[in-house]
Amino acid sequence: MHELPVTQAILDTALHAAQQAGGQRILAIDLVIGELSGIVDDSVQFYFDILSQGTPAAGAALHFQRQPAQAVCAQCGHSYQAAPPLAPFCPACGSQRVQVSGGREFFLESIEIND
Ligand SMILES: [Zn+2]
Repeated sequence: MHELPVTQAILDTALHAAQQAGGQRILAIDLVIGELSGIVDDSVQFYFDILSQGTPAAGAALHFQRQPAQAVCAQCGHSYQAAPPLAPFCPACGSQRVQVSGGREFFLESIEIND
């Protein structure tokens, strides 16, 4: 259920940006979601439809861009895409010193406004 506060934050950011740009209505919002963020597209859409009612963002299309999980090996520096659950070993050298370097992000990339 943590999509509610993040969706509210996305909406606030979009409304603020649209206001700054002097736009009338928000037509579309591009979001980037990391595979490991645990954010579910449908839930974001669900909350967005409720929260955006009566705002210039009502009816805006949400575009979701999935960002694959990324891991980097602290031993050899090998960087690789990893589907969850993450493999505990580096595929290049076998080291266990791997760190997740991407895939947890969730942010608003751009908005499209009708000016
Ligand atoms: Zn390695």
